[in-house]
Amino acid sequence: MQEFELIRSIFQSSVMANTEGRNDILLGIGDDCAQVQIPEGQTLVFSMDTMVEGRHFPFDADPLDIGYRAVATCVSDLAAMGAKPAFFTLGLTMPESDPQWLAAFAEGMAELAEPIGLLLVGGDTTKGPLTITLQVHGYVEKEQTPRRSQAQVGDDIYVTGTLGDAAAAVPIVTGEMHISAARFDYFYDRFWRPSPRLIAGMALKRVVHSMLDVSDGLAQDLQHITTASGVGAKIRLADLPVSDELRDWQPDSAYTLALTGGDDYELCFTAPKSAREEIQLITQTLHLPCTIIGEITESGFEVEGFQGELGGWQHF
Ligand code: ADP
Ligand code: MG
Repeated sequence: MQEFELIRSIFQSSVMANTEGRNDILLGIGDDCAQVQIPEGQTLVFSMDTMVEGRHFPFDADPLDIGYRAVATCVSDLAAMGAKPAFFTLGLTMPESDPQWLAAFAEGMAELAEPIGLLLVGGDTTKGPLTITLQVHGYVEKEQTPRRSQAQVGDDIYVTGTLGDAAAAVPIVTGEMHISAARFDYFYDRFWRPSPRLIAGMALKRVVHSMLDVSDGLAQDLQHITTASGVGAKIRLADLPVSDELRDWQPDSAYTLALTGGDDYELCFTAPKSAREEIQLITQTLHLPCTIIGEITESGFEVEGFQGELGGWQHF
């Protein structure tokens, strides 16, 4: 029991659990429940993600990285809903209570959570194989919530940032592959430190017809939009945004990785052609690369220039 007290105190004393200056959080860590006042005119959106050691991240990874990435990947869902980050809870299962590990894990979470105003308000701690569950919550206006189901025929299909780096990084992160130090640093960060597109999501929510974050691979995730919207899509392989680093390193597979690899946490959205100028203005102001990769069609799913099986990250 004492060890759980210790765990609680590590989280409770973190900057990311400090409720000062937050009118919406009436009670944070420490009571039987947290208590939140949802701001006037807003709705609550929330999403849960679970990460299991050895499955979603390698054994013996740096707890600082695990913490950062756990928040980043979960918060990416808020970005896709155009929501403002508000608070989160943490379900932590770990084999033993290791204060040093916990302090670093908390620091990694706080590194991202604190500056975006995502407050840790509670959680649960149990003993077992290392498993991290986060439930993140955000605020968004009811009428301005982008869904997967509202894509329309003729919409442009957009992707932010570049795709494929994180999938290419997996064998580096697991230690199966060794590369030069400079390349290692770049790709290591691309796996462990995704940049959830929160500001872009909030800025774009009024303009887009549909939106999601790309976590399981573009091909698979875009099909979530087409299925939910009852439409099709046609994209061009050669138009997918790929980083110079990936093209240099893996010229032959860069575009396939961009199409099918997971873990990028970029936004994919559709919008009417009439919104092109506004979208360009928004993304340029944010210095966020944003690429039109194709168009929403009546039916089917076509990737021009791609021969092969369309896969994606299958969890089981
Ligand atoms: P209870 O027995 O009433 O369920 P706990 O002893 O599990 O309460 O937790 C006490 C407080 O510590 C609660 O506010 C809970 O939200 C918080 N807490 C426990 N584990 C965590 C965790 N992993 N992260 C954040 N807060 C936690
Ligand atoms: Mg209780």
